[in-house]
Amino acid sequence: MAGASVKVAVRVRPFNSRETGRNAKCVIQMCVMTLLCRPTKDGAKNFTFDYSYWSHTTAEDPAFASQTQVYKDIGEEMLLHAFEGYNVCIFAYGQTGAGKSYTMMGKQEPGQEGIIPQLCEDLFQRTGENRDPDLTYSVEVSYMEIYCERVRDLLNPMSQGTLRVREHPILGPYVEDLSKLAVTGFPDIRDLMDVGNKARTVAATNMNETSSRSHAVFTIVFTQKRRDQMTSLDTEKVSKISLVDLAGSERADSSGAKGTRLKEGANINKSLTTLGKVISALAEMQSNKKRKSDFIPYRDSVLTWLLKENLGGNSRTAMIAALSPADINYEETLSTLRYADRAK
Ligand code: ADP
Repeated sequence: MAGASVKVAVRVRPFNSRETGRNAKCVIQMCVMTLLCRPTKDGAKNFTFDYSYWSHTTAEDPAFASQTQVYKDIGEEMLLHAFEGYNVCIFAYGQTGAGKSYTMMGKQEPGQEGIIPQLCEDLFQRTGENRDPDLTYSVEVSYMEIYCERVRDLLNPMSQGTLRVREHPILGPYVEDLSKLAVTGFPDIRDLMDVGNKARTVAATNMNETSSRSHAVFTIVFTQKRRDQMTSLDTEKVSKISLVDLAGSERADSSGAKGTRLKEGANINKSLTTLGKVISALAEMQSNKKRKSDFIPYRDSVLTWLLKENLGGNSRTAMIAALSPADINYEETLSTLRYADRAK
């Protein structure tokens, strides 16, 4: 949709060994921007997105989307918006194992790094090229996890419990006592990402959960300060960049969940459903189907409440829906495609 504030991409990962072992068939076809999801019985369904990425074949295939390509199309555009002063948000949606973490974080191997490390590196590359003595930059990062509507700090090893979500009258919702660390170069961020990713795994193991049940939110607060030579006054442009690896979207009922698992599932569904509602409400507003004063249910989940400043108003949002190509995941794939389709 031209001029829409939400960019939507889909990315299909290659078959994994489980799928190959079960002789799975591919249910996705792509034709430039049209993605065709072909079920076995009830005819093909077409979807069109801003970007459709294919990685099912080899890297030699012209349709193959590398990590660099995905960053160039989506990450770089969002970073440029942050330089213009917008708040930006990129999130990855999809069933567990579909490629959300690969897309957002990736692996620490050449050419395998995801959007988050590439964006951070690009940010410092660009600020490092600044030759304007009146312009200075500062960068702060935080990394948190939202599990069952509770927030945990991934950068503070001393913080064991959950943190309170509060609201500032001007700055909006925030997490009390969440560590915000100043960084001066990409190596600092890389170290913090390692700390946070380890904390996430350790916490998940202690709680007998997997990290796929929680949302991971990596936030960069980017401040550009300009000094006016005549008046010696400073003006600041502050952009918040939120990079979110969402919890797995598989429905709780598909795994026969009981007790804690069921509660987890209900919470995950609640935040993902609310996020979907918020994004489609904003998309409708953009296309003038909805009035500005219409209600947007940010408060219905901690995730959307905390992302409020990154989704509505002065912000740019991109969503990447991660998909498995295999027929055995067809139902989940279709439900991910529908979710992505509603965000446009
Ligand atoms: P999720 O975060 O959605 O649970 P992961 O990102 O962990 O899923 O992906 C599951 C596995 O598939 C990982 O081993 C990952 O490296 C691999 N994978 C995912 N997407 C791709 C891709 N586009 N190309 C190559 N491998 C991928």
